[in-house]
Amino acid sequence: MTLTCSGIGVTQGIAIGAAHLLQRGLIEVAPRTVRKRDIPHEVNRFRRAVDDARRSLSGVKKRIPKSTRSEIVDFIDTHLLMLDDAALSEVPISYIRTKKHAAEWALQIQREALAQVFSEMTDPYLRSRIDDVDHVVGQIQKFLLQDGESEVDDLSGHIIIAQDLAPADTILLRHQGVAGFVTEGGGPLSHTAILARSLGIPALVGVHQATRILRNGEPLIIDSKHGALIADADKPILQHYRKLIKQSRKQANALMALVDVPAVTRDGERARLMANIELPEDIEATRSLAADGVGLFRTEYLFMNRQQIPDEEEQFDAYRQAVEGLAGIPITIRTLDLGADKQIDGCMPGGQSCNPALGLRAIRLCLKEPKLFRPHLRAILRASALGPVQIMIPMLSNLQEVRQLKALLQEARESLVRDGLRFSGQVPLGGMIEVPAAALSADAFARELDFLSIGTNDLVQYTLAIDRVDDEVNYLYDPMHPSVLRLIQMVIDAGRRRQIPVAMCGEMAGDPRYIPLLLGMGLREFSMQPGSLLEAKRVLRSLNFARLDRKVSKIIKNIDQPAAMRMLLKLCSEDG
Ligand code: PEP
Ligand code: MG
Repeated sequence: MTLTCSGIGVTQGIAIGAAHLLQRGLIEVAPRTVRKRDIPHEVNRFRRAVDDARRSLSGVKKRIPKSTRSEIVDFIDTHLLMLDDAALSEVPISYIRTKKHAAEWALQIQREALAQVFSEMTDPYLRSRIDDVDHVVGQIQKFLLQDGESEVDDLSGHIIIAQDLAPADTILLRHQGVAGFVTEGGGPLSHTAILARSLGIPALVGVHQATRILRNGEPLIIDSKHGALIADADKPILQHYRKLIKQSRKQANALMALVDVPAVTRDGERARLMANIELPEDIEATRSLAADGVGLFRTEYLFMNRQQIPDEEEQFDAYRQAVEGLAGIPITIRTLDLGADKQIDGCMPGGQSCNPALGLRAIRLCLKEPKLFRPHLRAILRASALGPVQIMIPMLSNLQEVRQLKALLQEARESLVRDGLRFSGQVPLGGMIEVPAAALSADAFARELDFLSIGTNDLVQYTLAIDRVDDEVNYLYDPMHPSVLRLIQMVIDAGRRRQIPVAMCGEMAGDPRYIPLLLGMGLREFSMQPGSLLEAKRVLRSLNFARLDRKVSKIIKNIDQPAAMRMLLKLCSEDG
């Protein structure tokens, strides 16, 4: 029978595929023993589960494309090695034989013993490796529970259902060719959702109870635009969605005609449409869609799904590939924005914060951890010798951070000179305005920096005091809130006064509904995931700037009045 659940769509797309429930975390297993005569059967069950887990992981490894970063393969290799280790593959068998434990129980007892050993380690990195053990134990557990039923280890074309996904998981899933994903938690501005959008994977977040309601293998439809998940759809519904998929492919093809035309309004006002990139594949998309630049390169993804922080050479290599791949298109490399929901495996410096979004994140973390930051700055500077690079600082909240960063940059330049390594003498330095304090002091930041970029994902989060990953408060997430619009206007005005460029690289910039408003507010640089570039250009080319300018000034001036709000809502619902 057809079942519909609602959630929050993070893309416009539609996906059709079979459900695959992702088992996360370990299942609590009840103590259970077996009869003496069943021991050989239990040992066989355990061996088969270990073999199946190995086969499944090797399958994933084989399907990873050659262009993928080697650490993703290393990550899987580590887990394969652990599966071969006697601590996981043999010790539980000895418990089955000597203590008559059921296979699941024997595995759990051994997991507890290993957790005890890890918890006594003094090195925090080694202590955190219990996560790898749990991952591998979870794999064996999963196959024990399936008990011989065939496992879907080719996830391509499947729709993943999970309680939650970290950005790092999303990257791995992408390499397995999944058709879409659905999570119980998370907000549309979480980094997981942003990644899904950038990867073009239809996704829904905030589908409560999804892992309980849905069954493995069940046919599903994700209608991301309308926030709907349809299970077991009947034939007419399926036909309807197949038709929509065809239509959207046609529309996407039609947009390709806009690749080589300029981003200019009907009355000749020019804007720059730039790309937000995170993964190597985004570089090709940026170039083929003729973006005017990269307005945001999120460097933190290089640090995910691995156990060691990439060294300067590896970072340089990644930034070099981006700069060379862009073949002259200017790139804005953002310094590491780790922390909050952008956590990385074992190598996350700093302790656990009780409120990570307000804690040691982004520039705060980097300034506190020079060992992490110095090689990062050197690597970016070295990439600047190969093409037009600018550096951007995330999450600024006071000028002291800019000054400290400038001093570190100077130090990095001097050390590169000493080492005989090349870098450009012309690397503009900009800052992200994503904390209300920075927006309120935009003039001061504009005096110290060469450009500003408004990060609305965080600016909305911090202005309205709502956690961007918490779906319980998602209904309050509103980029059109008068306070948010006032702050955005202050930043644009500060840039104009100081004659420095102001861009926007939050998701708002790529949302066609807001482009007329932002253009009218004076924004000229929009940075968005590559998949949104052509639609943004289509909207922009349909606008009349002079008319918008007058209308938007009136709205912003009277933003607290109901009439202005009505005008604003109308403007944002009709492509201008
Ligand atoms: C933002 O906050 O708007 C932004 C672009 O940065 P991120 O989403 O990576 O935090
Ligand atoms: Mg941000």
